[in-house]
Amino acid sequence: MNVYDSEVLKGILFKKGYSETIKPQEADLIVVNTCSVREHAETRAIGRLNELSRYKLENPEIKLAVIGCMAQRLGEKFLKEVPALDFVLGTEELFKLPEYLDKKNEKPLVALSLSRLREIQVLPRRKHICTAFVAISRGCDNFCSYCVVPYVRGPEKHRKVSDIIKEVQCLIEYGCREVSLIGQNVNSYKDDGYDFADLLREVSKTDIQRIRFMTSHPRDLSPKLIQAMAFLEKVCEHLHLPLQSGSDKILDKMDRKYSSEDYLRLVDSARSKIQNLSLTTDLIVGFPGEKDDDFQKTLEMVDKIEFDSAFMFKYSPREGTKAFLSEDDVPQEEKIKRLQALIELQKDIAKKKNQELVGKTEEVLIDGKSKRDKANWKGKGRSNKTVIISKEKENKDLFGKIVKVRITKADSFTLFGEIEK
Ligand code: SF4
Repeated sequence: MNVYDSEVLKGILFKKGYSETIKPQEADLIVVNTCSVREHAETRAIGRLNELSRYKLENPEIKLAVIGCMAQRLGEKFLKEVPALDFVLGTEELFKLPEYLDKKNEKPLVALSLSRLREIQVLPRRKHICTAFVAISRGCDNFCSYCVVPYVRGPEKHRKVSDIIKEVQCLIEYGCREVSLIGQNVNSYKDDGYDFADLLREVSKTDIQRIRFMTSHPRDLSPKLIQAMAFLEKVCEHLHLPLQSGSDKILDKMDRKYSSEDYLRLVDSARSKIQNLSLTTDLIVGFPGEKDDDFQKTLEMVDKIEFDSAFMFKYSPREGTKAFLSEDDVPQEEKIKRLQALIELQKDIAKKKNQELVGKTEEVLIDGKSKRDKANWKGKGRSNKTVIISKEKENKDLFGKIVKVRITKADSFTLFGEIEK
């Protein structure tokens, strides 16, 4: 969501005549978008902002803005952490940055309004992107006990189907081939009788070539949505379904509102209906009260389900959440040990699953050059796995093309292959 917000804000600023620079000393405006999900991200953001403050001290004309979840969470307090700030704009105020820039502000401006039901109309976006996020909703009503999102992004709000379609069409005109429909919980999407499966069908009717979505809350993953994924050709066979823990006791403390059995049933149903489904997840270790046998249950679930990949984290207490009131009783060393064991297990599973694809063909949308070898193109398969394409070093411009790639090699994180001639 932060990537999307930054992208949209960039589009609005470009329309106002701004252009992008990667050199802070050349900038008139420096914007840092922030995440509050983990403490580590917040500490890094403060460090980065203080580092960037020196450009403002050298040239007071430069405007320094912090936007997003952490701005929403800290508000005025941010000015104590980073005194050089000109703007602290929360998660719904950030799109108004260009308006605020036009006003003469003697003092730093802190704007955190969350009360309005915000309609995001069709927004200016960057040209020449082959894949783009499109927010279909904002905020969350779930209040999982560890999560700060409902507090910093406010209650769930859904965009109109017609506005989403207009934004997709605008992206198609800019050359976009794939959209990822995003929201904190896309499965609960509703607009005027349309649910998320209906929205996928409507987006499928446009000329976009591939559709992805995230994130799905297991409680709201309906049989209708699984059917839609199975039958709508443009919808990629990738489902990101956060499990968080394999222990029912911990899932209950997390207020996730499903059991490990419910989750397994969903996985069976999705795998039986959607061919070649790629399944990914999020997992937290060291949640308050997590004993060794709870953690073993997480390992067992991961072993049983065999996810294609997983985002794995140590529990990070967040002030204001329900879990913050419980003692953070799993020692740091134990959290690290559990996380390492989980990562090792998942790495082996991912490697095995990726190697099963060797010799098979993946449909890849090429989105740029490989970081390791700039001569090689890279892209994403329908499974959302990164594919590096070798032996295509001639100057042919493949950016934005969808090609068939025969997989020749795989490790835990990446597939390697050659374009089928
Ligand atoms: S569903 Fe739960 S974890 Fe996801 S954003 Fe909402 S509260 Fe946070």
